[in-house]
Amino acid sequence: MNDKGSAIVVGGSLTGLAVAIALAKLGVLVRVIEQNEGMERLGTGLGVDRPLLSFVTGVDATRSGKVPALPVVRSFRETSTWRAIYAWLRAVADATGGVEVFQGRRVDEVTQTASSARVRGNAFDYEGDIVVGADGYRSLVRRVVDPANPIARYSGFVIWRGLVEEAWIGTATASLRGGRLPYAETARLVAYEVPGRDGNVTPGHRQITYAWYDASRTAWLRDAGFLAGDEILASIAPEAIPSALRDDLRRLASTRWKSPERDVLLAALDHEILFGTPLTQYLPNRLSNGRVAIVGDAAHVASPMVGAGLIFGLLDGVALGRAVAAAGGTTGTAGIMALREYEAERLEENRAHVRESLDATAALLRGLARP
Ligand SMILES: Cc1cc2nc3c(=O)[nH]c(=O)nc-3n(C[C@H](O)[C@H](O)[C@H](O)COP(=O)(O)OP(=O)(O)OC[C@H]3O[C@@H](n4cnc5c(N)ncnc54)[C@H](O)[C@@H]3O)c2cc1C
Repeated sequence: MNDKGSAIVVGGSLTGLAVAIALAKLGVLVRVIEQNEGMERLGTGLGVDRPLLSFVTGVDATRSGKVPALPVVRSFRETSTWRAIYAWLRAVADATGGVEVFQGRRVDEVTQTASSARVRGNAFDYEGDIVVGADGYRSLVRRVVDPANPIARYSGFVIWRGLVEEAWIGTATASLRGGRLPYAETARLVAYEVPGRDGNVTPGHRQITYAWYDASRTAWLRDAGFLAGDEILASIAPEAIPSALRDDLRRLASTRWKSPERDVLLAALDHEILFGTPLTQYLPNRLSNGRVAIVGDAAHVASPMVGAGLIFGLLDGVALGRAVAAAGGTTGTAGIMALREYEAERLEENRAHVRESLDATAALLRGLARP
């Protein structure tokens, strides 16, 4: 029996893998349970903080060693892609003793007693000292942590997203800016360069990630079954966008946005890789309950407008690791103490981040003409 105890992490995306590695470094045995297989998710680009990633995992993300360095494009910040960060974290997790990743297993139930916590799904049942929910904005684990406040609420926008190859639009795009317009359909656009699929960061061989904020689709989301009450039920895959809506997006992209942003959006529509993420936000009142805690987007969901979604998840991982170390392991009462300590360290900062997001989203909506 390991005297540092055991943890089950629900969700093996970016925060889940980072937290699992942070706990395993302390000697905790960690099982990560992920519902998807491999890298099938629809990630795009995001800002990353390699020093923080290195600190959480104990592996230098800026240099190649046992694991190749994480490719980034540098501008006023470092940017990378979900796939590249996932591949890097997965390689580190695989090289870290004490982490086991199970894919293709969906957790359906989380329970706890005074001495252990448990997750169950179709054909599996695992027990550990603590359960950490890194299961994203539609978190199941959050329902156990705070049954009175279980849902990340829809916040008025669909964000159309995708990753476009620079090669598709012919030139490197030094002048990408994005911008804001006073129309609901085209409220805001953010676009920036990230590494190519193969990690190439040479101009002309990179990808461009974009996020187009559209506040005119709420009725459609309801009619199409993506929104029930305030709760988002799924992202909108490229093939789920009906041709009339695709035509409307093409018209808006052509007439409202200027080149090179227009070229990026039209290329995404031509290649049928544009997909939608309805914007949700979640202001937490709690981050732990007994032997169960939440981290990352399960714990706090903010608009990408205020950025730093991944960074806040990594900071949760740092705090959780520190709390577990201070409690001397995760077994017995130390597990509950550690999760309480984690909550005490992270709750206010996470709430402040989400409040900033709620204010920024309300301000953006106030400035828009009705569609
Ligand atoms: C448009 C957009 C742009 C963004 N831009 C940025 C940016 O520029 N900078 C930034 O830092 N962040 C950005 N983010 C946010 C960032 O992507 C996330 O904050 C970050 O990836 C952390 O996510 P996570 O690992 O906590 O959750 P997720 O990535 O949502 O992962 C949750 C995981 O849990 C799994 N799961 C869920 N339920 C279960 C279950 N019951 N059983 C098993 N597995 C389950 C899911 O399959 C998934 O793999 C952006 C987000 C969006 C939508």
